[in-house]
Amino acid sequence: MDIADQVKTIEEGLRRLDVKLIAVSKTKPAEEILEAYHAGQRAFGENVVQELLGKYEILPKDIDWHLIGHLQSNKVKYIAPFITLIHSVDSLKLLKEIDKQAKKHNRVIDCLLQVHIATEDTKFGLDHVEVIELLRSAEFMELTHVRIRGLMGIATNTPNQKEVKEEFRELKALFDGIKASFFKDEASFDTLSMGMSADYNIAIEQGSTMVRLGSTIFGGR
Ligand SMILES: *Cc1c(COP(=O)(O)O)cnc(C)c1O
Repeated sequence: MDIADQVKTIEEGLRRLDVKLIAVSKTKPAEEILEAYHAGQRAFGENVVQELLGKYEILPKDIDWHLIGHLQSNKVKYIAPFITLIHSVDSLKLLKEIDKQAKKHNRVIDCLLQVHIATEDTKFGLDHVEVIELLRSAEFMELTHVRIRGLMGIATNTPNQKEVKEEFRELKALFDGIKASFFKDEASFDTLSMGMSADYNIAIEQGSTMVRLGSTIFGGR
C-alpha cells in the first residue's frame, strides 16, 4: 500500500476511536511527507530539531509540527515560533526555557510531560514522583506561556505484550490522577500521547488519545 492509502486508512480507523494520528516523518524526505499531506494528513512528528527546521522551511505552512524527541534547552529558540506541541518535556529547566522563548514570540506553547515508563534506562522521561514535584513547584506555577496538555510515554521495546500493556496502563492511571489533582477544571489537559507502530493497538485499548506512527505509514527506516 502506498503512503496516501495507508495514511487515509489508518486515520479513518483512528478517527472513529477519537484518537489523533501524528505521522512520524523523521528520516523521511519532503516528497514522502507531501504524499501524506495530499492525503489530508496535517500533523507530523520529528525527533531532531535541525531536521525539523529544514522540513518546516520547505513544506506547506499549514502543517502542524510536533517535536517528539529529546529536546535540549539551547535548541528551543529555533522551534518556538511555530511548534504545535512538544511531547518530550522532561525537566523544569526545559519547561522554563520553552516559557521564555514562547513569551518572546507572544505564544503559549502546548507541551506534554514525558514520563519514563519503559524498563530500559535509555529512554528519557520523568518518573511519577518527578512529574508531581514539577507540577507542585512554585517555579512551575509562575510560568505563563506554556500549557501542559497531558503526558507522553514510550513503552519498552519488547514482544511481551503483557509488559507493554502494563506500562501503558500505569501511564493512563498517572494521567487520570494528575488530571484530578492538578487540572480538574482545565479541559485542555486532554492528551495522552502513547503508542507507536508496534504497540498502538495496545496503547489505544489502554486509553491513548494520540498515537505516533512512523513505519506503519512510511515504511521502515
Ligand atoms: C520514531 C518514533 C516514533 C515512531 O516510531 P515507529 O515505530 O516508526 O512508529 C514514535 N515516537 C517517538 C518518540 C519516536 O522517536
